[in-house]
Amino acid sequence: MRREEFETARKRLVERRQELAGIIQRGDARIAQIRSEREIEFGDESQSEQEQTRIAQVDEAEAAELARVDAAIARIAEGSYGTCADCAEPIEPRRLLASPYAILCASCAGAGAAKP
Ligand SMILES: [Zn+2]
Repeated sequence: MRREEFETARKRLVERRQELAGIIQRGDARIAQIRSEREIEFGDESQSEQEQTRIAQVDEAEAAELARVDAAIARIAEGSYGTCADCAEPIEPRRLLASPYAILCASCAGAGAAKP
């Protein structure tokens, strides 16, 4: 992986990390808001329950992505970024551009489902 590609990936990861942290924070704030509104209004309980569930699910997805971003940033720090965690072959630069936190090469990621 070339130096500039490496830097681009690192920058994108750090930006994505901030974005995700913001989304998670807003989701938490929204849930807190719904809860406090409900106490005051006694509004449509099932609707606000549904909204809380929906936000919690989004939060969960974002938190999972944040963990992957963190793992990729850690790999940059230790110098193993861009190398497949499974077969230790270099990960295709095109793949890293599409998914900067990929830790497996295309063939290992594709074979993942077939593994025991
Ligand atoms: Zn691999």
